[in-house]
Amino acid sequence: MKYVLFGFLTVGFLFLSILAWIWSLRKEVKIQTAELKKSEERYRLLVENASEGVIVVVNEKVAFINPRALQITGYSEEELNTGKLSKSIHPDDQNIIFDYYSNTLKREDVVLQYPFRIITGKDETRWILNNSVKIEWEKKTGVLNIFTDITESKKFEQQFLQTQKMEAIGQLAGGIAHDFNNILTAIMGYGNLLKMNIGKEEAIVRYADNILAAAERAANLTSSLLTFSRKQAIDQQPTNINGVITSVEKLLSKLIGENIDFSVKCGGDRLIVMADSSQIIQALMNLATNARDAMPRGGRFVISTDIVEIDSVFIKKHAYGRNGLYALISFEDTGVGMDEKTMARIFEPFFTTKDVGKGTGLGLATVYGVVKQQNGYINVKSELGKGTTFNIYLPIILSDLEEIKEQENTCVNGGSETILVGEDEEDIRQFIKEILEGYGYTVVVASDGEDAIEKFKENKHAIQLLILDIIMPKKTGKYAYDEIRKLDSNIKAIFISGYTADFIQQQGITGEKIRLLYKPIAINTLLSEVRQALDEK
Ligand code: ADP
Ligand code: MG
Repeated sequence: MKYVLFGFLTVGFLFLSILAWIWSLRKEVKIQTAELKKSEERYRLLVENASEGVIVVVNEKVAFINPRALQITGYSEEELNTGKLSKSIHPDDQNIIFDYYSNTLKREDVVLQYPFRIITGKDETRWILNNSVKIEWEKKTGVLNIFTDITESKKFEQQFLQTQKMEAIGQLAGGIAHDFNNILTAIMGYGNLLKMNIGKEEAIVRYADNILAAAERAANLTSSLLTFSRKQAIDQQPTNINGVITSVEKLLSKLIGENIDFSVKCGGDRLIVMADSSQIIQALMNLATNARDAMPRGGRFVISTDIVEIDSVFIKKHAYGRNGLYALISFEDTGVGMDEKTMARIFEPFFTTKDVGKGTGLGLATVYGVVKQQNGYINVKSELGKGTTFNIYLPIILSDLEEIKEQENTCVNGGSETILVGEDEEDIRQFIKEILEGYGYTVVVASDGEDAIEKFKENKHAIQLLILDIIMPKKTGKYAYDEIRKLDSNIKAIFISGYTADFIQQQGITGEKIRLLYKPIAINTLLSEVRQALDEK
């Protein structure tokens, strides 16, 4: 009995313990489940309200998708799973996406980020930035994609790039049109004057000179455009500022017109700077044009040059500058002047206060660019109604000044010597002959290499200089030169070529005594080369 009771008690205790254990276990599970539910709820809320789209792809099918993803793509889950998933990718991006998808599957723990385009259910193209990573989803391998819609920022970016491109093209086109209009104005103006003055020899020559000078600038412009398009550096050479100014003085005074009192005051002797002379001429023209426009009822315009030192006082006053010697070019007019507000903007491209068709707003922007390219400075002083002064400072180069070749164009001398011109192109031969004869020389012409040798033999004692085209029929210029040198070892020569320097080197034409002229030949260059060659010891 005692044992039976003990047994019952034990079993009862055991039973109660088990009951208690089960009860606590149930409670634990309940708590756990509630917590799980809570955390699941949290994740669900997160995913469902996320501003990112979330899609889990398993075996190329959508295993999970959040509402935002449905919203961005514009498809239902069903549509995506019945063939729309791959079709929603923009045809041009399909290949990349396929690569990214297979790459994601190959790697653990690597998030790949890439933009691509989708075609939405509403047939719109939208840009997506996707992050994809390999995951385990319900015991299967899948890809988790989290993405945002970046269409708006893409549009903005593209618009920005487009604006920039347009601005650059506009600036270039405007600049060219502006330059060409200046040149055409000169050509048309002098062409008309030429017609009006037929019969008046002296005037005609002057006008023709100006037309040719304008055409030369046009040629310069196109060649610098070509250089620009090949992204080559500008042609910076030791340049005598006073020489450049003197060479275009006549042209500038025509541009400015007769009712403005224009003068040039060159100071500082020889102002040698590293510069591209055609760019300097451009700057001079732009500043002169502005001065003219500022004085519709006449006035005074002075271009003056000097040598100045930029020192600490200057630097303190202007808050820019580097110590050293500078060529100072000043442009002073007695025109309408400017107020502070205008002055603050004048160097901006396209800023103009002039009427449509009159101003492009590129004049001073170009000047500024030129000055900066030569490491110089520009400043302006002006007051409304009291005129304007522009000052340009260009650094002087301190090399051996004597070695620097005098600027051409300043003064051309003719002569009375006899020159043999060997050139196969009739036009060019005739042109050179006329120019040289116009400047007092006697000219013997030859139409090919063989002819040149013959003509030399006939006039052996008179001819002092050869001008030979390098490429000619029968015998080349170089061959003719070598043959003629056998007859007169001291004969001087100038070669003409339409080819580049390296081609000429290939022809074996090198050496100190060789002078070369490239087509198209400028008259001043031809005359000064001829004079220099003849004067050489
Ligand atoms: P544009 O001459 O085509 O207007 P610029 O860049 O050459 O363009 O000049 C910009 C502006 O600067 C002019 O519209 C004018 O208002 C002002 N400006 C330039 N030079 C002078 C000057 N010498 N006198 C008065 N205003 C000037
Ligand atoms: Mg201007």
